[in-house]
Amino acid sequence: MIKWLILFMVIVISSCTKEYGYEVDAELQPYFETFELEGSLRGFDIDIDAEGIGGMIEFIKDNSTVGQCQTSDEGNRRVFIDKAFWQAYNNSEKEFIVFHELGHCYLRREHDDSIDNNRVCKSIMQSGLSGCKNNYDASTREAYLDELFKK
Ligand SMILES: [Zn+2]
Repeated sequence: MIKWLILFMVIVISSCTKEYGYEVDAELQPYFETFELEGSLRGFDIDIDAEGIGGMIEFIKDNSTVGQCQTSDEGNRRVFIDKAFWQAYNNSEKEFIVFHELGHCYLRREHDDSIDNNRVCKSIMQSGLSGCKNNYDASTREAYLDELFKK
């Protein structure tokens, strides 16, 4: 009950305060907030809402696409995550993909396919096409976030 109430409140609050840009899906909101927190720990003053960046989970027609940072003709940005992947992903995988897309949408970073000596991807901003191994998990998270929020 409490959970539903909180979820309801989050939806009401976010739909009332949103004056421009896109809505943020309630399932993405906690990841957006973690992104802001982790950025602030590394000297960034991040306010995703103020930038009008939205978030949406829907089925993406292209089966190989997990997520995208989309920009509308008006210049509004949103993180778009494929529903099928989202449902299959664990928390760490969800964080990885949301942070990758916010890396594009918010930090305006391009792809970075740098690898280490073990062919492990050095950046969350890897393209997924280079063949490097993704090693994002609880033990490597800090280093990846330091790289993501580098100045
Ligand atoms: Zn990308």
